[in-house]
Formats: sequence, structure tokens, C-alpha cells
Amino acid sequence: MAETADVVVVGGGCIGTSIAWQLARRGAGRVVLLEKTGIASGATGWTSAIVRMHYTHEPLIKMALFGRRMFENFADEVGGDSGFRCVGFLVVVPQDEVPTARRVVGLQRGLGIDATMLSLEEIAEIEPRLSLEGVAAGAWEPDSGHADGSGTANAFAEAARNARADLRMGVEVTELDRSSGTSIRVSTTAGDIDAGSVVLASGYRTSGLLKPLGVELPIKPVRHSIAVVKRSPEFGPPHPVISDRIQNGYYRPEGSGLVLLGDHDPLEGDVDPDIETDKQPPPSSIARHTARFASRFPSEVDATYRRGYTGTYDTTPDFQPALGAVNTVPGLFVAVGFSGHGFKLSPSVGRILSDVVMDGETNVADISMFRIERFVEGDLISAPGGYGKRSLT
Ligand SMILES: Cc1cc2nc3c(=O)[nH]c(=O)nc-3n(C[C@H](O)[C@H](O)[C@H](O)COP(=O)(O)OP(=O)(O)OC[C@H]3O[C@@H](n4cnc5c(N)ncnc54)[C@H](O)[C@@H]3O)c2cc1C
Repeated sequence: MAETADVVVVGGGCIGTSIAWQLARRGAGRVVLLEKTGIASGATGWTSAIVRMHYTHEPLIKMALFGRRMFENFADEVGGDSGFRCVGFLVVVPQDEVPTARRVVGLQRGLGIDATMLSLEEIAEIEPRLSLEGVAAGAWEPDSGHADGSGTANAFAEAARNARADLRMGVEVTELDRSSGTSIRVSTTAGDIDAGSVVLASGYRTSGLLKPLGVELPIKPVRHSIAVVKRSPEFGPPHPVISDRIQNGYYRPEGSGLVLLGDHDPLEGDVDPDIETDKQPPPSSIARHTARFASRFPSEVDATYRRGYTGTYDTTPDFQPALGAVNTVPGLFVAVGFSGHGFKLSPSVGRILSDVVMDGETNVADISMFRIERFVEGDLISAPGGYGKRSLT
């Protein structure tokens, strides 16, 4: 006879561990998390972990704000260390994106977020070392910054264990079956579990688990590259996290002397289903990252390249996640397809999924736009009045 659980969560990244913690602490019953490798072995282990609230859609701003508040009180609320550093977040935009940035800042301020539009002079006051070539304006969030993906997921996992969730590593879910009874049979490499509810937080691999149930979820695995450079000794104190919408990249300080350099565009990388394999970035992408950084920070033309790595985005056609119940399979829920921006949302997604599983609804944000059915219905999320280029939407 199969063992039973009230809720099975599949995936031990920042999303699955956050969900398991919230379910366990809120009394969802017997909560089991299954992870085929180890905590943070997927995208979460490679994330740049930028924590910002600049989004064109209000539900995402609310979700990011929920996360920002949790990162601020992480030790008290969750326990452990998320590695959050409040260094500020600056978006620099070209002329044609000034109205969008202004609209986002207006939405943010309406939700109580400390966000302001900056003139070129004001940008120079905050970061005088930045070249303003092509920049028309900036949007500034002093309360944002960056954290640590692996540290955060491990802290959620530890908190979930303390709340009596059962976290099992090295257990792969091979099949889901809803054909008999009222539960979902979860077949794994270590036996079967009959679960009242199942939450899939298994990234790119989720599509393969859903297909036999007749549920289509188009996710493309896009391998992204990160270059890490050492700033020159003369540079001085770290800069804020900078999102450069003119050059389509970001610059994120790391410790006292390093900078992580990455691309904005969720499709800037190779489609590569071999997501479990560690791969080095191609030299062309390292050259792109370092050239962009040097042109924005002219004093850093000789910044030294230290290392590079890659990580995979689980990218959906509209670059937004599928969140909530799967209507055609009672008891099944998804939290996947974060398309390169899920880390900062993980605290809110934990809360939202636990709300939806336990109460059938949530008041954290209106998540109806993220319903999984939109992909087959062709009702993709668009960004009217949003950014034309595919990021920060
Ligand atoms: C290079 C890079 C930079 C990024 N930068 C940022 C950023 O600055 N800010 C931000 O907010 N986001 C960023 N992201 C995105 C963010 O990291 C991801 O959206 C987030 O980590 C996704 O977490 P997850 O838990 O959904 O997925 P994952 O961390 O991929 O976890 C899924 C887990 O499911 C497990 N799994 C899969 N299939 C099964 C199965 N059948 N059975 C059992 N377990 C299974 C996997 O082993 C994996 O551990 C970045 C991502 C990358 C790659």
C-alpha cells in the first residue's frame, strides 16, 4: 500500500522550499517535499538573487513587496540568513521608456514603496561613476538590493523541517496519476505516495510531469551566462544594483570587490534541455558582459575577469509564471515558469500557494493573470504601457 500525505511539494528550489515551509507552519497536515538532487541544485543555486520591486504589472509589484518585507526581517520571520544586502536598485532607461518607468514608479508609490524618478543630475548624485551615455532618466528604489539564492532556499528548508515538514532528497517524481480515488498518486524513485494535494515547483521539468495528465505547459530552458569581474582598487565603495535598459544588462555588486554581470533579456542564451549539467559560458557572452560594464563604468575598463558560470531560466512564452490550481486536475497546483525573475518572488509565492491549497484563494495579490490555462487559450500576458523589451515586465 502506498504511503499517504496531505500535500506533496515537488522541487527543492527557493519556490518549493518556501511553499513547503508556509504549508507546514500553517498546519496543512503531513507535508512532504521531494527533491531529486538537493536543495538549491536547480536555477536557485545560480541565481543573481536581485531583489527589486520594479515591475510593470501591479500583482508582481505586490508580490515583490511582500518578498522585500520578508527579506528585511528574514532572521526573525524564517530564521537563518538570506544574505540580503540593501544596496539600492537603480534602473536607467532610454527616452522612449521614460513614460513606462514613470508609470511603474507611480504604481509603486501607490503601494507605499519608496521609489522615485531621477533626472540625470540626480542619478549622478547617487552613482557619480556611471556613464550616462544614452540614459534619459532613472528609477530608484533605495530599499532594494540582492540576496543569496542557496542561503535563502536552505533557510526555508530548515524552517520547513522545524515546522515538521518531511523533506526528502534524492527522490525523483516519475509520474502523477489522478485516475482513481480522490487523491493524486505520486510515483517516485523511492515508492508511491497518495497525496490530497500536489504542488509542482519543479522548474523546466514540470512540463514532462504534466503532459501525461493532458496539461500543456510550454517552457523553454534558456541557459544564461554570468561573468564575475573584480573592480579596480580605485573604484571605492560598491555601486547599487544597476539595471541598464539601454544596453540590456545588469551589474550587481558581490562582496566588497566583485561584480556579477548578466543579461536582461530572458531569451539571451541557448535553449538547452541539458539543465542538470554544469557548463561554462561561451567566450562571446563574457566579452559582451565585460564590454557593457566597462562602457557604463569607464574607470573599470581594466576590471579583471574572475570566473563565469551558467544557469537555466524556465522560460514561458510571456515570461511570466504559471501559478495556482490546475483546473482540469483537482488537487494539482503549479508554481513554475519564472523566466529568470522568480527568486525575489519566492517569499510571496510560498504564501500564495499555501493560501490557494488550504483556502482556495489568496489576498496577497490577484494571481488570476498567471493561470496555467492561458497558454493553450492563447491569452498570454502582455504589457500594455509596459516596456517594449522583454524584461522587468
Ligand atoms: C543565472 C540566473 C540569474 C538569475 N537572477 C535572478 C535575479 O537576479 N532575481 C530573481 O528574482 N531571479 C533570478 N533568477 C531566477 C530565479 O533564480 C529562479 O526563478 C528561481 O530560482 C526558480 O526557483 P524554482 O524553485 O522555481 O526552480 P529551481 O531552483 O530550478 O528548483 C526546481 C527543483 O525541482 C527539482 N526537480 C525537478 N524535477 C523534479 C522531479 N521530477 N522530482 C523531484 N525534483 C525535481 C530540481 O532538481 C530543482 O532543484 C535567475 C536565474 C538564473 C539561472
